[in-house]
Amino acid sequence: MRVSDNGVTADQPSDRGVRAGVLVTGSELLTGKIRDLNGPWVAERLGALGVDVADILVVGDRPDDLAGGLRFLAGQPVDLIVTSGGLGPTADDVTAEVVAGFAGVPMVLDTGMEERIAEILRRFAARTGFAGAALDAANRKQATVPSGAIVLNPVGTAPGLVVTVPGGPVVVVLPGPPRELHGMWPAALDTPPVRELLARTPPFAAVHLRMFGLPESEIAQTLREVGAEVDLSGVEITTCLRRSELEVDLRYRPGSASSEAASDKLVAEIERRHGSHLVSTDGTPTDEQVAQLLAGHRIGLAESCTGGLLAGRLTNRPGSSDYLAGGVVAYSNEAKVALLGVPADLIEQYGAVSPQVARAMADGARAVFDADIGVSITGVAGPGGGTEEKPVGYVCFCVTTSDGQVREASPVLPGNRTDIRERSTDLAMHLIRRVLSGGANQR
Ligand code: ATP
Ligand code: MG
Repeated sequence: MRVSDNGVTADQPSDRGVRAGVLVTGSELLTGKIRDLNGPWVAERLGALGVDVADILVVGDRPDDLAGGLRFLAGQPVDLIVTSGGLGPTADDVTAEVVAGFAGVPMVLDTGMEERIAEILRRFAARTGFAGAALDAANRKQATVPSGAIVLNPVGTAPGLVVTVPGGPVVVVLPGPPRELHGMWPAALDTPPVRELLARTPPFAAVHLRMFGLPESEIAQTLREVGAEVDLSGVEITTCLRRSELEVDLRYRPGSASSEAASDKLVAEIERRHGSHLVSTDGTPTDEQVAQLLAGHRIGLAESCTGGLLAGRLTNRPGSSDYLAGGVVAYSNEAKVALLGVPADLIEQYGAVSPQVARAMADGARAVFDADIGVSITGVAGPGGGTEEKPVGYVCFCVTTSDGQVREASPVLPGNRTDIRERSTDLAMHLIRRVLSGGANQR
């Protein structure tokens, strides 16, 4: 394989799908001031379109680093590079120029684009009172683009670009502000060079398994054992532990009967061995599932150590007023007694963090809100307050229903205060799910 000056490889294998690299620029990303939101966003979208993302590379705003990033990605090799950032009017915005250099073409003023940006800036000036030579210079800079580039209409003031490097990758140049990048994405996909690439790569066949309460080591063992019997080489398997949930993603090129058979076998084996932990086999997020299951119900919450996080989680979804009656944050013993009707002597006898009090809180929430489901969380979030009997992380949960179901859990959850409070919220969501899914997936 021969690598030319700009990293472009001469003889790329033709039997593979389309591969892409994402080049994220911004010195503020390297100092840790802000987190990269664009790399993962672009990668996820490309993945869904059947493109294999080889790298996400984050570089600073220096032209040499940017050029080095382009060369590195082109040498991987990739067919498509998507860049984010550095398209604005300031001196540190150099992406367009660097991409022109990489493609070996000069920068030229796009007068049509200059007029379009001028119009945007006129509206901006009318709104803000800013105007003058500085804006005109900014306009000219943003309308100066690599010769031959397809220019994408600005979402803010910076136009995006699609540049086809002769004998090399298609480079899609997008602005850094996530809102602008998202807004420009459909137009970028709709350009002929990108459409041509996407036409070469059918979307992956994919299975998304979501599990709860299963250690990663268990799934790793299952994968090893199935892998010893079945050839899984055509199936790309990603396991991802996200807080309390374990996601297993399988994907393979459609049309490969052996990959499909291997994937089916693996899914069947996971269902057989770990079925009680399976939340969904189609990637449906837990919160969506819970929202669907809550349709036609009325739920009331009683939270202590989570301080309203469960209410926040449920109300995050539009339409939650259809089923969420309300929640009480009963942090003190007095609040548990006064607001939820928990008997004071129950707290005295068993302590505020106990299955007995959790049960009374859940019943209390149901009564207070005239709900058919009551949910409670009371625990020791730490870092202080733990005892030998009730250590930090000890959290009691209860879900009760008006038709007499009771589901309790009293685990010791790992992690710091934030982890414990977040995991408690996760666990409560899964308890609600289990109660409402009518005995399915019971554990
Ligand atoms: P502008 O015209 O706003 O300068 P630009 O295309 O030049 O647009 P940048 O200068 O790289 O973009 O970034 C502008 C702002 O957008 C950053 O300060 C940051 O707030 C946000 N931003 C840029 N890149 C990212 C990223 N990868 N993830 C999250 N936010 C980002
Ligand atoms: Mg900028």
